[in-house]
Amino acid sequence: MGDNDWTLRAHCRGEDPNIFFPKRGEALDPRADEHCNACSVTDECLDTALRTHTLGRWAKTSPHDRMIIRRQRKMEEPGEEKFGTA
Ligand code: SF4
Repeated sequence: MGDNDWTLRAHCRGEDPNIFFPKRGEALDPRADEHCNACSVTDECLDTALRTHTLGRWAKTSPHDRMIIRRQRKMEEPGEEKFGTA
């Protein structure tokens, strides 16, 4: 099994990814956190997001939330991410 096999168990699998990427000034679609509340791989998702994702909402964390967590854990910031790259 590969490192990303947890994504097969993601509750948001098959969902429109745009709900996790609200535009500036736009409220988050409530379906995003509803998926995460029901998800069994939030730890894996958050770990991946901390290492790689500067954009979007992952495991109920915003980009700002993850920046704070990285500082607390003394992690490096990932490189700038462009929308649409995973
Ligand atoms: S924690 Fe949320 S964003 Fe991450 S895989 Fe699960 S449902 Fe998707």
